[in-house]
Amino acid sequence: MQPEELIQGICDGKLRALAKAITLIESQRPEDQQATASILEAVLPRTGSSLRIGISGVPGAGKSTFIEAFGMYLLQQGKRVAVLAVDPSSQLSGGSILGDKTRMEELSRQECAFIRPSPSGETLGGVARKTRESMLLCEAYGFDVIIVETVGVGQSETAVASMVDFFLLLQLPGAGDELQGIKKGVMEIADGIVVNKADGDNVERARLAARQMENALHIMTPKSPSWTVPVELVSALHKSGMDLVWQMLQDYLEAMRASGEFEQKRKNQAVDWMWSTVMDNLKYAFSTHPKVAAALPELQRSVAEGVTTPGIAARKLLEVFRRPM
Ligand code: GDP
Repeated sequence: MQPEELIQGICDGKLRALAKAITLIESQRPEDQQATASILEAVLPRTGSSLRIGISGVPGAGKSTFIEAFGMYLLQQGKRVAVLAVDPSSQLSGGSILGDKTRMEELSRQECAFIRPSPSGETLGGVARKTRESMLLCEAYGFDVIIVETVGVGQSETAVASMVDFFLLLQLPGAGDELQGIKKGVMEIADGIVVNKADGDNVERARLAARQMENALHIMTPKSPSWTVPVELVSALHKSGMDLVWQMLQDYLEAMRASGEFEQKRKNQAVDWMWSTVMDNLKYAFSTHPKVAAALPELQRSVAEGVTTPGIAARKLLEVFRRPM
């Protein structure tokens, strides 16, 4: 399909066109990048009206069970839901932490839901950019809510937090897990927290974990003067508490829109995205520059052996990079 057909298809609500356009975004081929850019530019005026939610939690926290339950709840509210993912683990391990499409089976069968696994074989920056662009296509298509799932390990949470309106952290009731969240600094980027698996024998522990988290949040500097990060108990398995999460989101939106922070955050995110794209491209151009590549082994060796200082070597590489070819 030509870019024009894909654009038309997305605007007409054709799921096949959306899926194909996302495949184009994920493509590594340089010629597809031109097509991608023209599609994104064309659909841009139709984007911006979806609610963007990031969801994170350590493996086993219940992310896919939660997204399935929450997604079904949203569909019942008449919302259309897209689920995307940022999982750079496949680059390192060859396998993905978030797993493949067999997750969220019930949700994936629904007509008003769209689930797309993480692009693979990329650096975090590459995965994040592709997910961001896919998110715009999903918005143009007409999804009301876009959920971006990520793993509770490494830097991917920061990348996701920088592309969504609301970042939800899924925690476990077990002792110590909540502290793990604090240590990793993930609680600092959360706009809301849910303690999942608050069912059966876990309920008491879940309450305790929630209290501990509330206490920890008290001593942290709030992200926004207009918002206190709430902690709710849910059971994704029993599909309970989904209304509390939806209410949490509504309250957040109301507060952020009233203070003007909602719009400001989106503007900042767009500008940051521009800069990170510039930086990614510069980094790529630098590392693939033939003269830089030629000078690199010798300079690297000199630095490692203490013959040249890192500063001098860096300056030499930059000079080679700047010199006309
Ligand atoms: P993910 O790795 O974060 O995506 O976690 P999963 O959604 O795959 O869930 C991990 C395990 O926890 C599975 O065996 C789920 O059935 C279980 N689980 C998820 N949510 C709940 C819950 O609310 N209560 C209980 N008891 N188990 C849950």
